[in-house]
Amino acid sequence: MKKNILSLGLLFRLLLLSLALGVVVLLVFYVSFSRLFYCYALPYSSFRTPYADTYISPKIPPSLHPLLFKMVQTARKRVHHFWGSTKARPVLVFCADEAEFAYFGRNYGTPAMVNLNPLGTYIIVLPDGANIDVLSHEISHAELYSRLGWYTKMRQIPAWFDEGLALMVDYRYPGGGKAHQHADYRKKLLELGLPGSRPIGLSELRQIEDFFARDTYHTHRAYLTAGQELSRWLDQVKVKGLLQLIDSLKAGKDFMQVYAHIEKMALK
Ligand SMILES: [Zn+2]
Repeated sequence: MKKNILSLGLLFRLLLLSLALGVVVLLVFYVSFSRLFYCYALPYSSFRTPYADTYISPKIPPSLHPLLFKMVQTARKRVHHFWGSTKARPVLVFCADEAEFAYFGRNYGTPAMVNLNPLGTYIIVLPDGANIDVLSHEISHAELYSRLGWYTKMRQIPAWFDEGLALMVDYRYPGGGKAHQHADYRKKLLELGLPGSRPIGLSELRQIEDFFARDTYHTHRAYLTAGQELSRWLDQVKVKGLLQLIDSLKAGKDFMQVYAHIEKMALK
């Protein structure tokens, strides 16, 4: 009789433990994938879809839809011009406010973000991000992702490369509304250098979180550092070198080795 009571107690504890584990697994799954799920569920949401691959908040007046569409077209053309061709077909999601934005993805205080996952690419945009520079920047992220695939992109590409490359079609940095040269980034970084401040090393910008680890001054310098490096590298290797890098990474080669090797070959 005593043995039965013990067994029942043990069974009860195991049941509680299983339930607790189940709740933890569900919570982790929800936190990790809920935003993704909301992206997939867009066709069943109140967001309007007046154009292919575009969803617009019901709070945004329909009279603005053609303007948004035109911006997307222009941004796509800018990215196409830079790469020589485009492969990505990201879905654009225009939100009316921060609450809608946070629903679809993690917010670093940026006016737009790209939600990359193996089943699709979603670019989530705030009203502040509805401009050609921001859209081109995010479409560039989608383009690199589409060419490399999820696994290679996540495993190999440091944030400084991805962000620096996106800046090549985003004319906000260093400013002036035009495509920038390497010298422009250098000049702006020198202007921004406070007495005693040291340059940010690329090894300190491996994750996107590193760009936002401190204040806005750090974020600004981090983006300029990434732009400075990519403009320097691309001056040497051109887009041909970029495509070569992508092919090598897809073939399983190591990013840093290939990055340096392509530049060395271009300088010969
Ligand atoms: Zn970016």
